[in-house]
Amino acid sequence: MTVTVRFAPSPTGRIHIGNARTALFNWLFALKHGGRFVQRFDDTDLERSRQEYADSILYDLHWLGIFPDQTEYQSRRFSSYDAAVEKLKAAGLLYPCYETSEELELRRKVRRTRGMPPVYGREALKLTEEERSAHEQEGRRPHWRFLLPNFSSDPFETQRTEVHWNDLVRGEETVDLASLSDPVLVREDGTYLYTLPSVVDDIEMGITHVIRGDDHVTNTGVQIALFKALGAEPPAFGHHNLLTTSSGEGLSKRTGALSIESLRESGIEPMSVASLAVLVGTSENVTAMHDLTELAGKFDPAATSKSAAKFDPDELLVLNRALLHQMPFAEARDRLILLGVNGEKAEPFWTAVRGNLDRLSDAVSWWRVLREGPEAPVEMSDEDREFVGQAFDLLPEEPWDGNVWKDWTAAVRKATGRKGKALFMPLRLAITGLESGPELADLLPLVGREGILARRP
Ligand code: GLU
Repeated sequence: MTVTVRFAPSPTGRIHIGNARTALFNWLFALKHGGRFVQRFDDTDLERSRQEYADSILYDLHWLGIFPDQTEYQSRRFSSYDAAVEKLKAAGLLYPCYETSEELELRRKVRRTRGMPPVYGREALKLTEEERSAHEQEGRRPHWRFLLPNFSSDPFETQRTEVHWNDLVRGEETVDLASLSDPVLVREDGTYLYTLPSVVDDIEMGITHVIRGDDHVTNTGVQIALFKALGAEPPAFGHHNLLTTSSGEGLSKRTGALSIESLRESGIEPMSVASLAVLVGTSENVTAMHDLTELAGKFDPAATSKSAAKFDPDELLVLNRALLHQMPFAEARDRLILLGVNGEKAEPFWTAVRGNLDRLSDAVSWWRVLREGPEAPVEMSDEDREFVGQAFDLLPEEPWDGNVWKDWTAAVRKATGRKGKALFMPLRLAITGLESGPELADLLPLVGREGILARRP
């Protein structure tokens, strides 16, 4: 069977780097196994879901290099969920309940004071036909619970019922169905909670591997029971650890913190995001991977830690620098053109400045400095000014070869007796207006003799 995975966010906000971790785990898994990637939008909550968020999630995924083979929206698939509901009802596995949330809370309290686990006691199963219709006549609408298979013949006599799976990330996992309440699958207003649509989709879309955050481990016990109740073989499951900020806070779509959009806008490269999102909290070192194929080579779900992975957003800049410092011109060219960096000098310019960039867009200010000179008038002592004037007088005539900087500074050293920093710092300041930057040997041919002489302080 073709490996088929899915990434299933609710389109209720922009995705963040933690969501990107889930998406990339799935994408890389599919990449490694020659599989398919289904993009599924869990948008059964019609109030909070928005098409514009779904569109922006797709945009963010493309930016990261993820191109789904199939895109699905749960809001267009209600007839499949309705059919599953009928099937469960017919099998006696879905039963109507009329309790309000206050009544349920009260019951939980009573159970706790009696030292019983605060799970639902299946009281609604005991309702007679008359009691049900009395509730209906009062105007109450039922919510529907799935009868978990955690008993042998009497549903009020639950017994330990272990559901096992060999988790792709966590190894052997067990959930005891007797420790859980029968989950509500359908609300009073007829809307679906996440649990059932997810299973129905996983069945109908032929999902072979469900890879998601470890906040879903308990759900998996319930969902495996649901797969079986619907007559399907459950897929394989993998639950990866979640990302938290260095202070231990979780990430939320709603706050927009560390959203992929904000990282993109702040000039972070997609592969910086992908490298950190995938490698943090694993036994691999976090280093800058150049593309997703290279990253796939380092990706091993089983090498992921079981505890939450703290990450430092500053690490993104470290990865960004590493990527830019080695980025070939061909890869940067189109983006440089959009930034106004073009012409025959664009390539040597890129090679000269890339080692000094935090963000690709920082190249623009270097381009400007090299073409137009220092941004502000350069401050230097009279002595240095005189030195620079003397040095400029010694600048070789063009055409220049690759030794021009060496030849020039040798001549300047001989004439002035200056060397080291005393020699090159005033030259650097006069030419760029800055105390640090790319090698002057590389900058010189980019500025040209005329350009240098125009910078005489
Ligand atoms: N919509 C669910 C979530 O974002 C999907 C979980 C799953 O992958 O099954 O948590």
